[in-house]
Amino acid sequence: MNYNKANLPEEYRWASDDELKRRIAAKRKEYGDKLVILTHHYQRIEIVEFHDYLGDSYALARDASRQKNAEHIIFCGVRFMAEAADILTAPYQKVYLANPTAGCPMADMAPTRAVYDSWDVIESVLGKDSVIPISYMNSSAELKAFTGKNGGLICTSSNADAAFDWVKSKGRKLFFFPDQHLGRNTANKKGIPKDKIVMYNPTKENGGLTSDELKRAEVILWQGHCHVHTNFKPEHVAKMRKDYPGVKVVVHPECTEDVVALADSVGSTAHIVKYVEQAPAGSVIAIGTEINLVHRLAVTMPDKKIMSLGGDYCAICSNMFRTSLNDLCFTIENFDKAELVQVPGNIAVDAKLALERMLEVGR
Ligand code: SF4
Repeated sequence: MNYNKANLPEEYRWASDDELKRRIAAKRKEYGDKLVILTHHYQRIEIVEFHDYLGDSYALARDASRQKNAEHIIFCGVRFMAEAADILTAPYQKVYLANPTAGCPMADMAPTRAVYDSWDVIESVLGKDSVIPISYMNSSAELKAFTGKNGGLICTSSNADAAFDWVKSKGRKLFFFPDQHLGRNTANKKGIPKDKIVMYNPTKENGGLTSDELKRAEVILWQGHCHVHTNFKPEHVAKMRKDYPGVKVVVHPECTEDVVALADSVGSTAHIVKYVEQAPAGSVIAIGTEINLVHRLAVTMPDKKIMSLGGDYCAICSNMFRTSLNDLCFTIENFDKAELVQVPGNIAVDAKLALERMLEVGR
């Protein structure tokens, strides 16, 4: 069953926030450690209030894998995260996505068939066992399985560095999808020369690459991006520095390389949270990531001036924003009716290999 708020039963649509909060809290108490709520940093502040674990996709995957008592795991995030939680938990544990319509447009930029086709092209030019796939966590379970089957691993923005090192230690080229920017920014950080970083465009024959370009490449990027993070521009950084002399700019590596080059600090959502927490009182910080995280940091640390780097540009992830108290209350009160996230067994086995390699490699 797919539904959004409009399709929730009447009593969930019209209940006040206070009532929904009361009911969610009562159910959490009733279930005790049989229930765990995993919540991503980009969720609305009123959803974050109910987390058992709050984190980025790396931390939440790790937290999911450690749950042994929980029979019910509610994910407040987007689909690929809940799929990873299902893959990493035992069959007796049931995983729900609080709003089952919450997806990730970036993950959708790497359709399974297109990635398999590109792999055929790459192997036909470079031969077998010359390239290792790295799939960003923001990808479908099918692509995680493809990655596991082909000796690769999953990475998040928290451990892309470690994933690159892991591939390098094996003396192989690297095929990175779907986010070109995280791939490029990590390759830049590793000092990989620009002419050894190429981009595979799935809409063009052979990805728009010649055999020579593929042979010369150390890193093959997929042409995907996050529409939230790529809207931050160098002009935003320039304006912040002009309006707030001394401002610190911290951005997520899904931003473009020209924005990353101008920032004071770059890192995952976990890195951004830590950066802001550790900044001294009175700091002025402009953040290039999703607005709900920026808003929450500003509210919880009023001794610092915390702003979105985008100024008037509202960097909202509408998919993350879909999860409401109404959804959470419906899910927690209706485990028998809420949609289960269930990755088919054959896909889950290979995907788990790639996810476990990620957890072994660490941050
Ligand atoms: S912020 Fe970007 S990458 Fe993250 S879930 Fe939203 S669309 Fe996907």
